[in-house]
Amino acid sequence: MALIVQKYGGTSVGSIERIKVVAQHIKETAEKGNKVVAIVSAMAGETDKLIKMAKELSKRPSEREMDLLLSSGERISSALVAIRLNEIGAKAVAMTGRQCGIVTDEIHTKARIKSIDAKRIFEHLDNGEIVIVAGFQGISETTGDVTTLGRGGSDTTAVAIAAALKADMCEIYTDVDGIYTADPRIVNNARKLDKISYSEMMELASLGAKVLQIRSVEFGMKYNVPIMVLSSFTFNPGTLVTKEDKEMEKIVVSGVAHDKNQARLKINKVKDEPGVAAKIFDEIAKNNINVDMIVQNVSDDGKTTDISFTVPRDDADKAFEILQNLSKELNAGEVSINKDVAKVSIVGVGMRSHPGVAAKMFNTLATENINIRAITTSEIKISCLIDEKYTELAVRALHDAFELYKEQ
Ligand code: ASP
Ligand code: MG
Repeated sequence: MALIVQKYGGTSVGSIERIKVVAQHIKETAEKGNKVVAIVSAMAGETDKLIKMAKELSKRPSEREMDLLLSSGERISSALVAIRLNEIGAKAVAMTGRQCGIVTDEIHTKARIKSIDAKRIFEHLDNGEIVIVAGFQGISETTGDVTTLGRGGSDTTAVAIAAALKADMCEIYTDVDGIYTADPRIVNNARKLDKISYSEMMELASLGAKVLQIRSVEFGMKYNVPIMVLSSFTFNPGTLVTKEDKEMEKIVVSGVAHDKNQARLKINKVKDEPGVAAKIFDEIAKNNINVDMIVQNVSDDGKTTDISFTVPRDDADKAFEILQNLSKELNAGEVSINKDVAKVSIVGVGMRSHPGVAAKMFNTLATENINIRAITTSEIKISCLIDEKYTELAVRALHDAFELYKEQ
């Protein structure tokens, strides 16, 4: 007998038919002798619909009220799933975040979980009931108001509850079969991975592989929760996200990721003296814009430097404006913006112990005549900024070069 936490995403509970399928699967899991807690997302499209309605009523709807509004999507689907389970002869209760003891900070629309008092969940489980939890929400520690955890937050609810309950497994049911070596829509011989480490998954999640909310992976890593990503449409074995092991280190590159949500900004002829970069990036940070890749090089005249960096595309115009003002203030040169860029990355824990990985990546891009505009690395990742129109070509070439199509 095991304690299993399952999470069903928006498409998994996207219709009455889907809710019937999911309820049946939850029931079968319980009938095998397991205790089951299932976290659900709002039905597909529901959260977007609620946001749209609020925006039709107000240009900047208050965040406290947005949280109350958006939390209702998950309440609806949790109640519907529990209603179905009771209909087919399983005992189930639906619960909100508050009822599950999920306490967060008070940052509306992107709250962080601070603690979970799982007493009530345990009581229901001990009663032989299945617990269905409305994902993506909690209650603020200081105000007692409803908070939500940011887009995709039900993943984090699921992994956090699995950690609090010390569950044996956290299964994340979605509309894809698992984590692939590259986007299968671009690379037709992309391969589903049997397992991947938390740290690799974190890099992939931050690179725009939107299968899991990053924070859920952080939780998994911190509390060592085994996470299985799988499809509620096929119920085939998926990808296990787990602790790094020796075997994983042998594999140099686990996956190729790409992210088109990029824009590159450049400010020329900035004085080469202490504090100037600090001033520029302070200003950008104050406006809540995340900077990713940064490159600084000496200008032609050798007395000043040119600084370029990337930001999410939605923030590019705002960043451009900030730079234009700064350029006047700092007596710097021209400011430019390029939104036709993309980031391609290779990720793998084996990189740490294998030399020549970067060289191979750059050579592969060079062979395809793709120019690299910026580079960043971490211990287990190398990213290159390229022209957006070459994204697919680059991803396919790298997937081939590192032979990711082969069973490793
Ligand atoms: N319903 C929320 C969203 O669409 C949370 C989630 O699905 O995880 O982002
Ligand atoms: Mg999701």
